[in-house]
Amino acid sequence: MQDSGNDSVTEADILVVGAGNAALCAAISASENGARVIMIEAAPEDSRGGNSFFTGGAFRFAFNGIEDILSIYPDISEEERKNIDFGSYTEDQYFDDMFDLTEFRTDADLVEILVRGSFETAKWIREQGVRLVPGLGRQAYKVDGKFKFWGGLALHIWGGGPELLKALFAKAESYGVKVLYETPALKLLHDDGGVRGVRVRHQGKTQDITAKAVILACGGFESNAEMRARYLGPNWDLAKVRGTRFNTGKGIEMALDIGALPYGHYSGCHSVAWDVSAPPFGDLTIGDHFQKHNYPYGIIVNANGDRYVDEGADFHSHTYAKYGGEILKQPGLFAWQIFDQRTIHLLRDEYRIRRITKATANTHEELSEKLEGVDPRGYLKTIREFNAACPTDVPFDPNIKDGRRTDGLAINKSNWANPLDTPPYEAFRVTTGVTFTFGGLKIDIRAQVEDTTGAPIPGLFACGELVGGLFYHNYASGTGLMSGAVFGRLAGESASKHGK
Ligand SMILES: Cc1cc2nc3c(=O)[nH]c(=O)nc-3n(C[C@H](O)[C@H](O)[C@H](O)COP(=O)(O)OP(=O)(O)OC[C@H]3O[C@@H](n4cnc5c(N)ncnc54)[C@H](O)[C@@H]3O)c2cc1C
Repeated sequence: MQDSGNDSVTEADILVVGAGNAALCAAISASENGARVIMIEAAPEDSRGGNSFFTGGAFRFAFNGIEDILSIYPDISEEERKNIDFGSYTEDQYFDDMFDLTEFRTDADLVEILVRGSFETAKWIREQGVRLVPGLGRQAYKVDGKFKFWGGLALHIWGGGPELLKALFAKAESYGVKVLYETPALKLLHDDGGVRGVRVRHQGKTQDITAKAVILACGGFESNAEMRARYLGPNWDLAKVRGTRFNTGKGIEMALDIGALPYGHYSGCHSVAWDVSAPPFGDLTIGDHFQKHNYPYGIIVNANGDRYVDEGADFHSHTYAKYGGEILKQPGLFAWQIFDQRTIHLLRDEYRIRRITKATANTHEELSEKLEGVDPRGYLKTIREFNAACPTDVPFDPNIKDGRRTDGLAINKSNWANPLDTPPYEAFRVTTGVTFTFGGLKIDIRAQVEDTTGAPIPGLFACGELVGGLFYHNYASGTGLMSGAVFGRLAGESASKHGK
């Protein structure tokens, strides 16, 4: 599939705006339903794939046990069968996680579609040529000779975002879907009958592409510093962007301009601890490796040398998306994560890349002088108090919330509290990396965009990051790709029915 390279593309059944995971799932689904599809993508071809390209491939779906896993991962080896306890992650657990993490704000209709559609969609995505494999070391550790999964995410997309996209682009190509690169959408063409197409810039010229239906799948506003400051608040303009530079909120803006309802948590976003020296936007050669998610096995200190969150409140997959934003509230907008040799082997590959901001020392005194920007006396006091508050009678177990909790600190560490007493000590300097924004458009149960009166806008559908209402305050890892796939499929199907 390539850019058509000519100006004659002026009409399609379905026009999909964007070419990330949600857009591709929508394009494939619309094609399955017999529609002729064109995709327009703001990025050049060599930077295609949006945020989806940057993902590690965590993919959250509900399953009831090994039989369900086998239907998605049939080539499991005997060895894996023996040594992996996949457990289960029921729809009820998925609902509980979504309700709990969003403080019961997630939209009831959307979450129902997401959770109930997740297993079927995992099977569907496999049928599109995407391979899923066990996420060992990320969501399961080996304890007593066996890997045991906690909290879902048993299977990840093999090869992460790049392999996901390779498979989806190939599938779309097999259906004859055309992608016009370097073709940003500028405006929705709209009249009393609904949406008729999109005004775009293509090869330096403004032109109109008409369609029976338009599917917006062009991401949130995380890459737009002005919108971040406007909606997320002070200092968010200074955050680094983990992914694509192209998600500037244009899809949301174009829809609001024609009367769509703003919906969801506009002042909320997904953000994580991110290497302080990372570039301002994602680097395609590094992917998600600037992220630093293993703080539950150490401590985090700010410029005063103080701990400021409960690093062990929950598994990282339940805290990482909100703890990123806490860094922006700290003096100097940075933090250091500190580990010792008790747990260093548990850290993910991201802690061993070459482009890393790191300090190592054999004593805490030596480390305190190396932690750039940190008050050494504050740090040493924190370490003394933290080490003294760690329990000795509760065994450490990274596979469960082990209840190994400090006692008597202003901010206790609720699980995995080991004293930092086994040098060398290793420290990693991080700041906030914004992943994606939570506010967006309101869609109905057919993925059709609603206007400010609650009526569906004829001809306009949406999926992926720019849908509002699913995520508030926090996020369960692996839900972004799944929601893009579930609602992408739905939008493709609904839009093609609308077109007919
Ligand atoms: C570093 C990183 C790691 C992540 N890891 C995971 C993970 O492991 N699991 C998970 O579930 N989620 C993960 N996520 C979140 C996940 O990437 C998103 O939830 C998901 O990919 C969003 O898909 P999307 O299709 O909505 O948006 P995108 O993939 O961002 O696609 C949007 C597309 O729209 C294009 N576009 C924007 N504006 C316009 C315009 N005006 N005209 C035309 N095109 C436009 C963009 O160029 C882009 O290609 C991660 C994100 C990042 C950044």
